[in-house]
Amino acid sequence: MQKYDLVVVGAGPAGSCAAAETAKKGARVLLIERKAMVGSPVQCAEYVPRQIKRYVNIYPEMTVQRTEQLHTYINDELCSNLSAPGYILDRVMFDRKLAEEAVNCGVELWTKARAIEKIENSVRVVVKGETKDIECRYIIGADGPRSTVGAWMNSQNEHFMPAVQWTLPLRESRDNTEIYFDAEYVGGYAWMFPKGRFANVGVGVCMESGAKLTELHQRFIRKMVTAGVIKDELPIYKTGGIAPVGGPLPNSVYENMLLAGDAAGQTHPVSAGGIMNAVICGRLAGQAVAEALKKDDIACLSGYETAWRKILGRHLDEATAQRRRLDEKWTMESPAFADLIRETWLAFA
Ligand SMILES: Cc1cc2nc3c(=O)[nH]c(=O)nc-3n(C[C@H](O)[C@H](O)[C@H](O)COP(=O)(O)OP(=O)(O)OC[C@H]3O[C@@H](n4cnc5c(N)ncnc54)[C@H](O)[C@@H]3O)c2cc1C
Repeated sequence: MQKYDLVVVGAGPAGSCAAAETAKKGARVLLIERKAMVGSPVQCAEYVPRQIKRYVNIYPEMTVQRTEQLHTYINDELCSNLSAPGYILDRVMFDRKLAEEAVNCGVELWTKARAIEKIENSVRVVVKGETKDIECRYIIGADGPRSTVGAWMNSQNEHFMPAVQWTLPLRESRDNTEIYFDAEYVGGYAWMFPKGRFANVGVGVCMESGAKLTELHQRFIRKMVTAGVIKDELPIYKTGGIAPVGGPLPNSVYENMLLAGDAAGQTHPVSAGGIMNAVICGRLAGQAVAEALKKDDIACLSGYETAWRKILGRHLDEATAQRRRLDEKWTMESPAFADLIRETWLAFA
């Protein structure tokens, strides 16, 4: 049986950053990813705030363009221009570069490898069709919104924002991200994020809303075409996915396991953005495991929970309260709806 100090499940931003941090300290780290290629297919609108540079190296090939302001529309009326300097990533390259950095730190990366079960001190992995039991001392679950490791810990996300997105041609390039609130996008919003000559155009709603996502998305696209912003309705890429919006899970550490990123519900519960938090928390999770290995003391893992809460806890708790308010008070009544968005959306804070 193969033996590692740490198995990290999921090679998204959280997993690659976690794996790199532990491997840097000389530990034997295995990073497993169920996809055939890290980062692909993309399920993301690809915006990150520019402060992400504090936590990861941003290489030119990772970004497509810069954005400057966040424009917020309520019922098609521009209500806020917020300075929000950011990057639109090439998310494939972003995830791949982070995984490459982890490998350069000594991490072993397996693709087409899916964690399916925890058996005592081992993780059962199906890799390229073959089942293997991998013995390890610690496990980090960085395996996204519906985390398998989270199921082993009995700590899983329950509230999600499903979304659909097409990448469509712009008439003219732009440098602002745009968010559209409309009572029909129940619990969510529509977005248009410029990506060079194209834009990621999507709609997300609250999962329990019963809103007809595809229909709303089509209508939003048509509106953008009619307004002369989008050239035509022919996408170069179609995607979608779910983002956890219930806020951080009460437990991100259990026995020898930790959760990071979407798996831990560290995604912003109102905006559903989670890349930067995944990077921050992934690094902290990897550092906690390195500490536990160095001191040969599993109790060091609890330092992870303390560390990420110190940086993000208050911010995420406040956003979770805003999410609850949005879900409880969502209304089709026009003035009340606009007031609710002004009270809960981050551009009006
Ligand atoms: C439509 C959409 C648009 C979004 N747009 C933005 C945005 O513009 N900006 C932003 O900040 N956030 C955005 N998000 C959220 C963002 O994508 C996530 O917060 C971010 O990817 C979290 O990173 P992560 O590493 O925690 O998880 P992920 O990036 O989801 O990585 C988890 C990895 O684990 C792998 N995996 C899962 N299960 C297993 C298993 N059992 N075994 C092995 N591997 C496994 C998956 O294949 C995946 O590669 C968006 C989400 C959606 C759905």
